[in-house]
Amino acid sequence: MSNHYDHAQVQEFWQYVWERDDVYALPEDATDPTYVLGMFPYTSGTLHMGHVRNYAITDAYARYRRMQGDDVLHPMGWDAFGLPAENAAFERKTDPQSWTEACIRRMREELETMGFGYDWSREITTCEPEYYRWNQWLFKRLYEAGLVEYEAASVNWCPDCETVLAAAQVEEREVERSETSALASGEAASREDEHSESSDRGSGEAASREHERVCWRCETPVGRRELDQWFFTITDYAEELHDGLADLEGWPDGVREIQRNWIGRQEGTRISFEVPDYDGDDDAGTVDVFSTRPETVYGATYLAVSPGHDLARELAETDDAVADYVDTVREQDPSEVGFAGVETDVTAIHPLTGEELPVYVAGYVLDDVGTGAVMGVPAHNERDHTFALEHDLPIEQVVIPSTPDKRTSLEDGPYTDEGILEHSGEYDGLESDVARERVVAEHDALEEDVTYRLRDWLISRQRYWGTPIPVVHCEDCGHVLVPDEELPVELPEFVRTTGNPLEAHDSFRETECPDCGGSARRETDTMDTFVDSSWYFLRFLSPHLEDAPFDTELADEWLPVDVYVGGEEHAILHLLYTRFFTKALADLDLLDRREPITELRSQGTVLYDGEKMSSSKGNVVAPQEYGSETTRLFVLSAAHPEQDFEWTANNVRGAYDLQQTLYGMAAAFVEEGDTRVERLDHDEYIAREIDRTIAAVTEEYDRFRFHRAATEIQELARLLRRYREYDRPHGEIYRRGLLALAALIAPMAPHLGEECWNKLRGDGLVVEADWPEPEGDLDDYRRERQLVETTLADVRDIVDTAAIDDPERIELVVAQEWKYDVLRLVDDRVDETLADVDTGSLVDQVLETDAVSGLEVDRETVATFVADLIDRGERADLEHVLAAADELALLDRSSWLVTDEFDADVVVRRASDDAELAERARPGKPAIRIR
Ligand SMILES: [Zn+2]
Ligand SMILES: [Zn+2]
Repeated sequence: MSNHYDHAQVQEFWQYVWERDDVYALPEDATDPTYVLGMFPYTSGTLHMGHVRNYAITDAYARYRRMQGDDVLHPMGWDAFGLPAENAAFERKTDPQSWTEACIRRMREELETMGFGYDWSREITTCEPEYYRWNQWLFKRLYEAGLVEYEAASVNWCPDCETVLAAAQVEEREVERSETSALASGEAASREDEHSESSDRGSGEAASREHERVCWRCETPVGRRELDQWFFTITDYAEELHDGLADLEGWPDGVREIQRNWIGRQEGTRISFEVPDYDGDDDAGTVDVFSTRPETVYGATYLAVSPGHDLARELAETDDAVADYVDTVREQDPSEVGFAGVETDVTAIHPLTGEELPVYVAGYVLDDVGTGAVMGVPAHNERDHTFALEHDLPIEQVVIPSTPDKRTSLEDGPYTDEGILEHSGEYDGLESDVARERVVAEHDALEEDVTYRLRDWLISRQRYWGTPIPVVHCEDCGHVLVPDEELPVELPEFVRTTGNPLEAHDSFRETECPDCGGSARRETDTMDTFVDSSWYFLRFLSPHLEDAPFDTELADEWLPVDVYVGGEEHAILHLLYTRFFTKALADLDLLDRREPITELRSQGTVLYDGEKMSSSKGNVVAPQEYGSETTRLFVLSAAHPEQDFEWTANNVRGAYDLQQTLYGMAAAFVEEGDTRVERLDHDEYIAREIDRTIAAVTEEYDRFRFHRAATEIQELARLLRRYREYDRPHGEIYRRGLLALAALIAPMAPHLGEECWNKLRGDGLVVEADWPEPEGDLDDYRRERQLVETTLADVRDIVDTAAIDDPERIELVVAQEWKYDVLRLVDDRVDETLADVDTGSLVDQVLETDAVSGLEVDRETVATFVADLIDRGERADLEHVLAAADELALLDRSSWLVTDEFDADVVVRRASDDAELAERARPGKPAIRIR
């Protein structure tokens, strides 16, 4: 039969037409286009269902906005650098470039097959010199602005990837332990644990013994290495990155919370301890600690600094024990460090008591948390308590529980709650919070302070397939930046080797110093690929610009990205780096904006048998398997974009059937064309329902609820079908309904929309058509629908309860006019809930009104009606009621539904036509008689 929708054939044809007409290109004269962006894909080989869902969402929204009349910027590109390409090339005896290019060809073809509407003239590929030269250029600008540091650091090293990792690329994984810890834990949970530990800790962070730290990419346990590395000092923006989150109202709360935790802002107190034998650099003779419990300062019995602290480094020069310990810790995995430590020869002076405290170098104090030093308060802190027991240090309680019976022995563990101070000089007897405020206010050695958990962004990678860092190391001049005119520093040909291929490349490594002309060594580290993705959304604005990374003027006009869609797993890496870059670029005067994205949409996971689809689990459904249209319609209609959903053949079938239905209706209409010209009541009902659906679908698209848009479309299709079976349809109204269906489905299923639109002889292409305009207001439609639905339900109820087999005649009688007047009056007079109304005075007032006084309605009838109304309920109900004449007209229009369902004559009457029955009716609830 010709009414079958042959997606394969249709698809190819419309894709050809769209390309021929260049319908997705952003017009040359576009001003402030709507920027819709999906996170660009990593070039891993093929598209997977997560990509399809991601891009189906952005595509539907971009198409919707375009039909609404916006200029839409909807580009696509490739996140093409990175270690997996290097590994894949190594395994396949090819090179990363050929491998990546092959992936891009395949993935682009797949995207095109899916019919996604991108402006391909803006395609960007991060592994091309035209792109990565701007990474190098931006590196230099950041360097000049003081945002790049080159430091010897003890860094996270993945032995499998043979490269260092940024802090955000190390994941915590719970180590399998005995059955005593059956607690479920995920990555998020462990991150939170870690955070809450550091929250009440305040003055440092110990290595966690329950968690293993693994590589985000390959899950290999991460080790430590001491290396000279390049960092972006993202911590300079910690405060702004943190504070700005509050204003990102278009971002999911979950993502903002994850970033907030990652940045880890913490208010506390900086306490200075004098260490007389310490030379130090800038703050000679003092060691600062950070604490959230400064009121426990009288309980400090020792001071401990991290192995990387300046004091430890200084002491290591003369003290062999310290030097040995520092060396040991440097090689250790943080999980092995434990509570070992070494006592030093120096002592610290307690700032309040003047007592001398021993000073330790201890691995449980981390270099990069707080100040890298802690005051040890064993009585009131878990880790200090453990450390004190191990090193036989005094435990002095200075806070006791406010309820004396809760007093416990400190042998078992510290007392970490708040309470009343003791052994704290003039602060004895004060509550913790009061003492805290006073002790900080009254001593110069204590000062309010804020710290952040965020670390600087380590961008060096000891790998080939990334942007070369534009630096040359010269023995005489130190590290020298490659001059702008010599950019890009291009990658040399790939060599197959273990370790870093760039190290093996003599002709790349050996170079001349740009400053002195002497022989020099080129930096062989490449940049973390997250640098590439931190600003790619800017390159899409002017992808072919040759003298700057992006056009600042355009960026000021077109940014921020209006809608950005991607997985929530990017909350701390990509999305944080992108915010950092935007702020840094603004400070370089390259941008006005300080936030890159207005609205962020996280997308959920596609599950199969309850698990995430992944090739390693072998539960992958290829996007093409069901035809592109079925697949995209299904992923959009299955659930809210943010929810996970299960891929089941049955549900896919639903998406398939909807296409067949819509296409079949359009085809049948064109072929049969048996229609009417005169407009009857029930045609008016359909006309209104078409409008209602347009209004509802518009609202759903605006709110990203594609699944609900699909349901509305399905319901209208069902209604139109029924309408056509009920009687010959009105030609114009029916065609308008079918055209509306084609337009409304087009953002989600563009080939189908185009095919139906074309069959119905819609104007031009549906992708370029105007979005259908509803004539009325969505609230009115809701009110009408509610009346029709409750009336139908009431009729069914009566037919059921009275067990009427075959009703012949159904009468609907609307309420008397005065009842509507009473409702309006109550609505006007009552601000608060109905229960608070003075019924007596309300009835008096009602009786005085014209509508009532001219009629033969007695006080008792009115009083009963008002009392009923108040009994029943909510004030909001009053607003849902239509005017008397509108209710009558609506029942007239919709009575065919009753006729159709019960195969009975239906009569709709005014109150005056049947006074007796009308007494039982009330506004919004016609009286019903069935014979
Ligand atoms: Zn790894
Ligand atoms: Zn030099």
